[in-house]
Amino acid sequence: MRRDDQAIPEPLRLVVDFVNTLDVEEISDELASPAALAAWCHHHTGSDLHLSVSRKDLAAAIEVRDVLRNAMLANRGVAIRPEDLAEHNRRIARFQAGVEFAETGRPIVRARGTGVTEILSRILVDVATAHALGIWDRTKLCPAEDCLWAFYDHSKNRSRRWCSMDLCGNRTKTKTYRQRHRNQ
Ligand SMILES: [Zn+2]
Repeated sequence: MRRDDQAIPEPLRLVVDFVNTLDVEEISDELASPAALAAWCHHHTGSDLHLSVSRKDLAAAIEVRDVLRNAMLANRGVAIRPEDLAEHNRRIARFQAGVEFAETGRPIVRARGTGVTEILSRILVDVATAHALGIWDRTKLCPAEDCLWAFYDHSKNRSRRWCSMDLCGNRTKTKTYRQRHRNQ
């Protein structure tokens, strides 16, 4: 794990890990192939190591990740463009969930489907659950162009901007200072 060593609370851990499969800084993508997606699911959700993953599943996963990255940007104040919103919601429309009750009468929202579809549905359920718990808007994307790392804002007033002030905040400040200096 880089940058943020503070624990991400449930149910957001899987969500943040999933979004960070794309590492802009290292220019690497853990979802580079269907086999890579199967491996990621196995390591992060305990799914079958030989989970069958089609190219279509992979494309769907990348779409969901893209939608989540945009929503996390919106959490930082960069609203999703109205013309993109319908497309984003169309991309996640096929993922479904249903309500079940536990013995105690407690309702449980359960993702539907099988394989990758179930896992992606579960990630979306986690997002909705986090929102119900009032913590979804604490997940953000770092605005440094060469970073864009998803992080959880632990700050009291939810004002954290960078994944790490030391790594991205100061670096960007220095860059801005240098650019200004150069332009003088
Ligand atoms: Zn950053």
